[in-house]
Amino acid sequence: MNSCCALPVEVIAADQHKINDDCCLVTEKTSAPARAECPISKTSSRKVQRKTLEHLLKPEKIAAIQNVQYYYCTAPDCNVVYFSNENVPHFTVEDVSVKVLSKDNGDDVNVCYCFNWTRGRIKEEIAQTGKSSASLQIAREVKAGTCSCDIKNPKGECCLGDVNSFVKTVSLKENG
Ligand SMILES: [Zn+2]
Repeated sequence: MNSCCALPVEVIAADQHKINDDCCLVTEKTSAPARAECPISKTSSRKVQRKTLEHLLKPEKIAAIQNVQYYYCTAPDCNVVYFSNENVPHFTVEDVSVKVLSKDNGDDVNVCYCFNWTRGRIKEEIAQTGKSSASLQIAREVKAGTCSCDIKNPKGECCLGDVNSFVKTVSLKENG
């Protein structure tokens, strides 16, 4: 079980649980540089684990994964998702089997990939109840050890930062 699971659920929900490389802060222990620039957008990008690609690329693309370090590009206007600092082909949004949050503005896109919180579901709950229960519900699952952001979230990390910032954006709009 991850060490974060000992933390109070409110701490996890506030996305304050990624400390000392524990828990949901997925750090690759490879010797490759910690960051690399996307070949298209030049965005400075963090390493992503190989197993994330193996779970999220379309089946016909799995064989194209090379034995190199991959990085995850977050730039909204760049269609590259995974690339390497070595000279191998990169993977775009077309090659990934789920819609990538940072690169797709649709309401049907997941913010939390483990427990199916889409933008639409979060918006709907806020419209109906005035607030979102998403981060607390997700935190309970994290605490129970049932999340698998490392293989279900395209960025290979905990979604709570994204959930909280999206909830904030929607709440500001509702109240503004
Ligand atoms: Zn890019």
